[in-house]
Amino acid sequence: MSLRFGPLQDLRYGLRVLQSLSGRYERECPLCGYRGRFSAFGIPPRPDARCRGCGSMERHRLFALWLHANEGLLRGRRVLHFAPEAILRKLITPISASYIGADLNPQPPDVALNLEQIELADASQDAILCNHVLEHVDHHRALREMHRVLAPGGVALLTFPIIEGWAQTYENPAVTSAHDRLLHFGQEDHIKFFGADVRQHIVDAGFELEEFTAVEPFVHRHALLRGGKLFIGRKPQR
Ligand SMILES: [Zn+2]
Repeated sequence: MSLRFGPLQDLRYGLRVLQSLSGRYERECPLCGYRGRFSAFGIPPRPDARCRGCGSMERHRLFALWLHANEGLLRGRRVLHFAPEAILRKLITPISASYIGADLNPQPPDVALNLEQIELADASQDAILCNHVLEHVDHHRALREMHRVLAPGGVALLTFPIIEGWAQTYENPAVTSAHDRLLHFGQEDHIKFFGADVRQHIVDAGFELEEFTAVEPFVHRHALLRGGKLFIGRKPQR
């Protein structure tokens, strides 16, 4: 059988992909003010993902837009940041009253904390940032722990990969190897793909849920992921 779509087609496609890697449109970065083309990032590549001024990604820019409108929730507050991204740390430390960067395997000056069992006192923080961590852990335990550590009125700021077309989060105990996790969950150290029911999981942990969504004109202006979400879980006042 002859191949209708063979190496020549692959080569043409590869050239088009290469052309897309350095961006086609002018964008604006809300973190550093850079205006111009952005770079592609990721495997498979996402065109216009990374700011050439500061290295921000789509979720960092979405967070910065949220922060512009909601700075009061972090200004003068006690902030705990899991798996801290340097680019967001730089935004938060100048405005927060206190800042703890935390990771299972921290780099100084961050501290070692386990999101499933946070060794901090009840109601000791006002905001917790947790970007792309919940898909690595038992998110039910993690959400309950964040709720415990937050003071009433405090907020958990959450991002994670979500398949909006799936009603249910996909977890599979038979998937244990790095090879299989990549196939099933999209990354070798992910253990689930969230579906729409993650909203109920956040509510079940005791939070009131708000969502900050990437919509136009911000999507094309700042090169955001269309419909990208920042989930805001607020611990109710007593
Ligand atoms: Zn930038």
